[in-house]
Parts: sequence; structure tokens; C-alpha cells
Amino acid sequence: MNEHDERPERSDAADKVSRRGMVAGLGTAAIFTAGAFSSLAAAQQSQSPASDTESQNTSNKPPTDPGPENEPLIGENPSSWTPPHTDSGDVNNFRYPFAFGHNRVSHGAGWARQVTVRDLPISKTIAGVNMRLEPYAVRELHWHIPAEWAYMLVGTARITGVDHEGRSQVSDLGPGDLWYFPGGVPHSIQGLEDGCEFLLVFDDGNFSEFDTFLITDWLGHTPADVIEKNLSWPRSVIDQMHKKELYIFGAPKPYSLQEDQRLAQTSGTPPDPFDFKLKSMKPTKTTKGGEVRIADSSNFKVSKTIATALVKLNPGGLRELHWHPNADEWQYYVSGKGRMTVFTGGGKARTIDFQAGDVGYIQQSLPHYIENTGDSDLEFLEMFKSDHYEDISLGQWISHLPPELVAAHLKIDEKYVRDVPKEKMVITPV
Ligand code: MN
Ligand code: MN
Repeated sequence: MNEHDERPERSDAADKVSRRGMVAGLGTAAIFTAGAFSSLAAAQQSQSPASDTESQNTSNKPPTDPGPENEPLIGENPSSWTPPHTDSGDVNNFRYPFAFGHNRVSHGAGWARQVTVRDLPISKTIAGVNMRLEPYAVRELHWHIPAEWAYMLVGTARITGVDHEGRSQVSDLGPGDLWYFPGGVPHSIQGLEDGCEFLLVFDDGNFSEFDTFLITDWLGHTPADVIEKNLSWPRSVIDQMHKKELYIFGAPKPYSLQEDQRLAQTSGTPPDPFDFKLKSMKPTKTTKGGEVRIADSSNFKVSKTIATALVKLNPGGLRELHWHPNADEWQYYVSGKGRMTVFTGGGKARTIDFQAGDVGYIQQSLPHYIENTGDSDLEFLEMFKSDHYEDISLGQWISHLPPELVAAHLKIDEKYVRDVPKEKMVITPV
């Protein structure tokens, strides 16, 4: 049930009409970003109408919408349909749900769908893939030019990776674990007893998961006599090999982890492991409003091109007003509901609602906040194409300035500036 349906003060019929009114005139892009709609409309409805000067200048009547409408999307996206009065101007879309992705289904074995710059045009630095592997199904041995970072959402998997010195890692990972394979490092993923689902992130927005270097596809395009010369396998064996890519396919249950490690790791393991336990690490920061865990090349050494923060906001929690000076931010919403406003300068700002399974994107140095608008925890990942995590917050900035200077800008008494905590909050206590 969405917040719209829960509003007590309006009848269903009136509600329907007003929602439809809001949608008229929105283009496809606007509807795609519609995650923003619901919490704002609800918030506006719950505020006392026209009680201050600003709102007297703006009609608080919901827009009417007598024409055709995609009601479920409108209900999910109140901040797009009735944006906060502080929104203004034309700001590029910064949300794309994986649910809009074209799924590549390998029947009985799993599926994969992606969000790239082709879906979300501002997402130039990072592309993402959401993948499911049924029990013992394998994402085929392959590599690609960009680096791959991953977060295990559900279940368990066995990963393999081999570096340029033949050092090999075979590891079993569970929910909340990460992996990172540098560009060009060949790897595989296999679901274990219960299968798995995970998020992949690539440090190139133009990447396509469906154009990688797969072992079957490669050897299928190599003359058999060359393979025979290279590996000394009998021609009859080479002739029976798969000639087309498998991509995601069913496979036998693997040996025990210890046995696979014994057979594979004969030249040792990579000096910087390809995996990292993100969710089970001690939070980097905890407040009454939530907690954050940061992994970058300072603690996850192999991850030289991707930095991440896993943020959990309690209901009502706020990821404080801030920006990132070093990189664009690519977001994945793991659970819950929230809204985000991005200010792009020149009087322009846009608010969009987000929910589990959505991708968000904020360009380098654009200020933003994320607020939990649901009644459960909001959990999301912030990803950056960088070797390190970096942000500057509003509170951190103004608390390290001469207070009278800030007070003169904001037309407030300087005591309020002096009271701002000097320590960066990350998540505002609630
Ligand atoms: Mn890969
Ligand atoms: Mn951010």
C-alpha cells in the first residue's frame, strides 16, 4: 500500500482525480523518475495549507488529471507529481528502476538486467547489473575491460579469479559481502545450495554486461587446429566443445571449497584479496539516525577504482546535506523508501522518490540529501569511481567558518551557527 492510499482526509475518488491531474503533461522521462511522487504529495497534504506567506503565493490545490494515467507509477512518485515548492527548473532525470530493465533470462539457470548510460543518460562513470543465479548455475568464465565491483544481496556464491601471475582465489561469499575484479582479470560466479542474487557495478557507464569475453565464445571463434596445437587436446574432444556462449547455465554441484582451493591455488593467492566483508564490518559511523560502512582502497585494497558507502537510515533518518568533490555518485536502493533532492545551481533543483531496486545518480559536487520517507529502514549503496571515499557536508562547512560571516549570509543570529556540531554527522540524529 502506498502513502497515497493511507491519507485519511481524502476520498478514493478525489484522490484518483487529483493523482491523474498531476500526471498530465509529464513525458516518459519524468514518469520514469516518478519515484519522487508519493512522499512529497503526502507531505504537502499533511502540512497546513496556506499558513505562511510562501504557500499563499502558490496554490496548494492538487493538480487535476482527467486524462489517461498510469496510476501505480503516480502513486509511487508523489515528489514528481506534486514536487516540493523548493523544486525549480529543468533538471535531468536521475532515477532509473531496474524493474524497467530488459531482462535476459536463462531459463532455469538465472537472469540479468542492467542500467547503463543508455538507460540513464547522466550515468557516464558507472553502469550496474542485477543478476540471479539458481542453485549451482554459473555466470560463465569471462573478463571485460572495466573493473567489476559486486555486492551480494541474497544467498551464497563461489567466485573464482586469476591474476597475471597465476595467483588464484576461490572463495564462498554470502549476503553483505563484496568482490572486486580489476579490469581484464578473468572470473566466474556460481550459485551454491540456495542460489544467489547480487548487484554488479562497472567503472564505465557505457559498459554492457552482454558484450564480455567468454571462454566458449572465444574458443568457438578460434580454429580447432590452433586449439589443438595450443592445449594438446585430441581433435575429437575439441569438436565436442560448446561453440556458442553459455553466459548463464546450469552446472554440477562444485567440490568442497577446500578441495577447489587445493586444486586451483597452486601458485598462491592474490596479495590483495578480491573479496571483502562489508556488512559484517564495524560501522564507520553510527548515530541515532542510522549507520554507514565505507569500503575503499584504504581497507579493501584491491578496489582501486570503486569506493562505496553502505548507508542505513532509520525511519525519518536523514543522510545530511552534502556533496562529493571527487566523483559522481551511483546509488542502488537495497530496501525501504526515500526521497532525494539534487540542487544543480542557477536556481534549479529536483526531488525524486526512490525505493528498493532503484538506481540513482548524482553528478560530481552537486549537493543533495536522502531522507527515509517510509516506515522501515532505508538501506542504499553510494558508489564512486574513485580509489577513496570523500564528501563535504553543509554542517561541516559552516561550523568551520567565522560564525558572523555565515550569520550575515543566512540572516540568522550567529548563535545558531556556533551550535552546529563540528564533527561531520553523515546521518542526522533523529
Ligand atoms: Mn564480470
Ligand atoms: Mn552522496
